[in-house]
Amino acid sequence: MRNQIVAGNWKMNNDTAETEILLDNLMQHQIREDVSVYIAPAFTQLTQSVVKLKNYPIAVAAQNMNAVASVAHTGEISSSMLKGVGVNTVILGHSERRSLYGETDDSLKVKVIKAIEDGMGIMFCFGEELSERKENKHFELVKMQLDSALFDLPNNAWKQIILAYEPVWAIGTGETASPGQVQEMHAFIREQIKLQYDSELANQVSILYGGSVKPNNAKEIFSMTDVDGGLIGGASLKSDDFMAIVNAF
Ligand code: PEP
Repeated sequence: MRNQIVAGNWKMNNDTAETEILLDNLMQHQIREDVSVYIAPAFTQLTQSVVKLKNYPIAVAAQNMNAVASVAHTGEISSSMLKGVGVNTVILGHSERRSLYGETDDSLKVKVIKAIEDGMGIMFCFGEELSERKENKHFELVKMQLDSALFDLPNNAWKQIILAYEPVWAIGTGETASPGQVQEMHAFIREQIKLQYDSELANQVSILYGGSVKPNNAKEIFSMTDVDGGLIGGASLKSDDFMAIVNAF
């Protein structure tokens, strides 16, 4: 059985005081043992979150990392810095990193390789723009993103990878892909892994959906055969909403 996962991407929200409150509120909830729960706070809140969640079953992930170790890259963070504060998972390829900070499948490939080498878990985000879906190019585009950034990896590297299909048109817009659209794409992604590797690996990789998942639509989305959970933006900033999504399996 594949891991069921819900991850909250806090983006550039929650300073120290706000993080304290949100973590306190999250920690009032009992976490199900059959769901792996992550939060991804800003870099400045990672240590605070790791320390606070020390005996609580929510893992802390980073929202980005650099592809190189300690060199002259002003403003950047390396995997060893993340590991040094107890963070062993990183989100890579989020659409905001791609659109606002120029990340490409080629630059992401280098980050992925570094993260794998350094033993980091990766939540790898990808997905099509609205124009690509309208032109019926979404399958082609997703295949290209996976091909470029991930499909040269050896089979055993995939133990460290969680996929997050996030159609850009559904992120932060309130517009969710329909459960049918999500299932169709997730089945396609699994098929691509099978073609590139084998069916055993294809059946092991957790594929999350992200894009306006809320308490009122999570259950239906999570009930789809090839959906193993969600990457949650806006709704992860409210503890009750986030926990309702965690409990939607
Ligand atoms: C995201 O940013 O990854 C995301 C899915 O955001 P939202 O849930 O707000 O659409």
